Amino acid sequence: MGRKQRQKALLAPVQAAGIVGAGGAGFPTHVKLASKADAIIANGAECEPLLEVDGQLLTYHLEDVLTGLEAAQEAVGAECAYLAVKAKHKPLVEKLRQVAAIRSWPKIISLPDVYPIGDEQILVHEVLGRIVPPGGLPLQVGAVVINIETLYNIARALAGEPVTATYLTVHGAVAEPFTTLAPIGTAVGDILALARPLPAPDDFAVIEGGPMMGHLIHDLRQPVTKTTKGLVVLPKDHIIVTGLQSQGANLRRAYSVCSQCTKCTDLCPRHMLGHPLWPHRIMRGMAQGRPQGEIALSAFLCSECGICDNYACFMGLSPRQVNRRVKAWLLAEGLGKPSFTGLDQARDSWPRGRVPTSRLVYRLDLARWVKPAPLRDSLPAPTSVEIPLKQHVGVTAQPIVRVGDPVSLGSMVAQVPDGLLGAAVHSSIEGIVSSVSDRIITIRRGGEGG
Ligand code: SF4
Ligand code: SF4
Repeated sequence: MGRKQRQKALLAPVQAAGIVGAGGAGFPTHVKLASKADAIIANGAECEPLLEVDGQLLTYHLEDVLTGLEAAQEAVGAECAYLAVKAKHKPLVEKLRQVAAIRSWPKIISLPDVYPIGDEQILVHEVLGRIVPPGGLPLQVGAVVINIETLYNIARALAGEPVTATYLTVHGAVAEPFTTLAPIGTAVGDILALARPLPAPDDFAVIEGGPMMGHLIHDLRQPVTKTTKGLVVLPKDHIIVTGLQSQGANLRRAYSVCSQCTKCTDLCPRHMLGHPLWPHRIMRGMAQGRPQGEIALSAFLCSECGICDNYACFMGLSPRQVNRRVKAWLLAEGLGKPSFTGLDQARDSWPRGRVPTSRLVYRLDLARWVKPAPLRDSLPAPTSVEIPLKQHVGVTAQPIVRVGDPVSLGSMVAQVPDGLLGAAVHSSIEGIVSSVSDRIITIRRGGEGG
């Protein structure tokens, strides 16, 4: 069988299982792996403070993760496979090195504990010494970066199991943080109900994702999806929560208060990598009405990592939010991400200017909550699930079930038409379809409460 045929055979179950990048925007994995690269990097950096999914999967499901990595490596035809984790996880790194020594595979890379080392572009530079062109993809320098849970899901797909659940960490202002496997479509409130003490909605806010790049959840009935990696509970007056709540005000202040100290640019990881992104110049453009030309277009290079607003700016301003706004303006005007030429080396400030996670945690006032979030038993099937039809990059999946249909755990309930970008969706419990909309399929366990 030729490489193309082998690749097709490997990716068919990945596509059928509805796998998407579990750690990011949800790019369909069968599309990502339908490429040719010379290196594949398993991203176990988990650089968001408090989250522990990667660490728990590497500790308790290493065989599955390695099976997924082997398959992904073969799919892209990579000569080298790397598994990157932070050096601070000493027992885990030791275990990985022992396993890798027995197999002479993969190469274990221990990473410094800096933020955002898990950013694909930063990771490619750290592991391979290559710089992804600004606005480009790792594939342009011969690399594929893949999330740990995605690799686990590939192994499960090869065993015939579609994606019906997601690993996530519940952390922050809870007595006993934990990591668990939750059926997709479970309400966030039902998962938080397992946290002790139960957070009171009037006193606490919940962030989906990590403290640096996550967003506030406004309705605890919101379902978890294939890409939910964390639920972080914080007091409503916590600096991160107030920062997320005051985005409009921050934007207005940006027009007048910025002192042009350049700290946001000095500490911007993408800037240090050599990309033509100068957040302070974008701020200056805002003060003058709106950034223009190349400065405006450079907003597309912002990864929204949050170093500038959560760490660098002592005026409490948010170049990240300004970049987001500028991107929205440009997209509305039909202007997309420009292409930039490749770069040979990072700026002199790299790696000296990188931000240690320990300092970030202190600055974000998270240190009091830093403690392990061990893996608990999987959550039991809830009485009902609301399964979104778009949990991925691409088009919305089309329902293939109707109200009243019985479904099993793992039944496909929505699919993407041939040739379009997207991912299939499966039932996460056994039950009866109780409603179908153009956004959500609701399934009740055993038809309860129909
Ligand atoms: S760090 Fe703050 S004050 Fe300084 S240039 Fe950036 S946005 Fe302006
Ligand atoms: S969020 Fe700020 S620090 Fe991060 S890439 Fe964007 S401009 Fe740079």
